[in-house]
Amino acid sequence: MTVLDDRLVSVYDDVVARNPGEVEFHQAVREVFESLAPVVAKRPEYLDSAIIQRLCEPERQIIFRVPWTDDAGQVQLNRGFRVEFNSALGPYKGGLRFHPSVYLGIVKFLGFEQIFKNALTGLPIGGGKGGSDFDPKGRSDAEVMRFCQSFMTELYRHIGEYTDVPAGDIGVGGREIGFMFGQYKRITNRYESGVLTGKGIGWGGSLVRTEATGYGTVYFVEEMLKASDDSFEGKRVVVSGSGNVAIYAVEKVHQLGGKVVAMSDSAGYIVDENGIDLDLIKDIKEVRRARISDYAAERGVAYVEGGSIWDVACDIALPCATQNELDETAARTLVSNGCIIVAEGANMPSTPEAIRVFTEHPVLRFAPGKAVNAGGVATSALEMQQNASRDSWSFEYTDRRLAVIMRDIHDSCLKTADEYGAPGSYTSGANIAGFIRVANAMQAMGVI
Ligand code: NDP
Repeated sequence: MTVLDDRLVSVYDDVVARNPGEVEFHQAVREVFESLAPVVAKRPEYLDSAIIQRLCEPERQIIFRVPWTDDAGQVQLNRGFRVEFNSALGPYKGGLRFHPSVYLGIVKFLGFEQIFKNALTGLPIGGGKGGSDFDPKGRSDAEVMRFCQSFMTELYRHIGEYTDVPAGDIGVGGREIGFMFGQYKRITNRYESGVLTGKGIGWGGSLVRTEATGYGTVYFVEEMLKASDDSFEGKRVVVSGSGNVAIYAVEKVHQLGGKVVAMSDSAGYIVDENGIDLDLIKDIKEVRRARISDYAAERGVAYVEGGSIWDVACDIALPCATQNELDETAARTLVSNGCIIVAEGANMPSTPEAIRVFTEHPVLRFAPGKAVNAGGVATSALEMQQNASRDSWSFEYTDRRLAVIMRDIHDSCLKTADEYGAPGSYTSGANIAGFIRVANAMQAMGVI
C-alpha cells in the first residue's frame, strides 16, 4: 500500500477503530486519503476544522428488520440498510444493493465513494447508499415483490425527493424499483416521482437511465483514448459481469467500433472471438434471468467455470461486476498481455495491490470507478430534473447531456491532477476534485 501522509495516519487509524471489521469501508477511505496529501499541505484547515474526519462519519445510519413471506408460506427474515452519508451538496443520492454479501461495511464503502462521485458530476446531489442481504436470485416475482414491499414499509420514513433519493445497484433493477415505488405511493398517498430513480419509462423514468452507467463508462474511456489521439476502433475489450452496467458498456463499445470478446457472471466467463452477441446476452440475463454458461452452450463458444476473466488478452479492460474482483495477479496478467487501459465500471473492483501494479506501469492508464461510472448517478439526477419540471426529454438529448457530463468529469480529473502535482493520475484527480467540492460546501455551512 502507498504510505499515507503523516497528518492523515491518525485520522485513518481512528476511522478503523471507530468502524471495526468494516474492511471494505476502510479500503475506500484509505484510497481517498492516499490522494489527499497535497490537499492538506495546501489547505491544512480541512484537517484542523475536522472536515476530513467529519466526512468519514455518516450523517445517519439506518438498520432495520425486513420480514416477508415466501411462496411456501414460510416467514423469511432479512436486514435492511440505508446510510445517509453526506448532504452538503444536495439530498442523499445512491443506489440500493440486494445481495447476500451486503452488511454495514459494504453499504458504508459504497456510500463513502458516492459522496465524491456525486460531487464530481457537478450536480446538486449528496451521497448515500443502502440495500439488504436479500438474494433475489432464484426467487419468484411474487417473492421479490413481497420483499420489496416490506423493505419500503420501513424505508419510506427516511426518504423523499428533498431528503434521500435511492436508485438501483446490484440485484436492484427496473422490476425492484417498480415494486418499491408502488409501495411508497400506497403508504404515503403521494405520487412523488422524484423519490426514486431508475423508474420505468411512462411512469416517471428517464430515457437513457438504464444505459447510463455502461454508456457513461465507455464515454469516459473514449475521452481517455482521445487524449492520446486514439479511439475504440479495432480495440479488443474484456468486460466483467453481465448485469446492467456490463451489458450497456458492451453495447456502447460495439457502437464505437471496439470488439468485446469476453463477459462473465459470478459462476464463470465466456470467450467469443467473433464479438459478444449482445441480443443473446440480453435475452439470457434480462429476460430469462439465467446463467452466462447458457450463452456458451447456445453459441458453441468457450465457457470457463470459475477462473479469471482477466486471463483473456485485451487492449481495454472494463471491470463491471463487483468490488475486489480484480487482484494483483490479474493486474499483472493484464499488463503482460499488453492492456493499455483499465477503467472501473463497477465500484472499487480493483484491489489496492492491483491499482499499484497499474499506476506503476509506464504505459497503462487506470481510471477509478468514482469517475468512470458516475454517468449512472448523473443520469439519475437528470431524471430528478425531469420529475421536478414534469417534463421528459428525448433519448438523444439525454444521451448528449450524459456524454458532456462524462467529458467534463474526465477533463476535471486531469486538470485537478495537474494542479496538485500528480499529472495524468485519474485517481488523484477524481479524489481531489470530488473532495474539494464537498469540503468547501461543508466549510461554508458551519460545523455540520
Ligand atoms: P447487476 O446486479 O445488474 O449485475 C452484477 C453483475 O456482476 C452480474 O453479472 C453478477 O453475476 C456479477 N457479480 C456480482 N457479484 C459477483 C461476484 N462476487 N463475483 C463475480 N461476479 C459478480 O449490477 P450492476 O450492473 O448494476 O452493478 C455492477 C457494478 O456497478 C457494481 O459494483 C455497482 O455498484 C456498480 N454501479 C452500478 C450502477 C448502476 O447504475 N447500476 C451505477 C454505478 C456503479 P451474478 O448474476 O452471477 O451474480
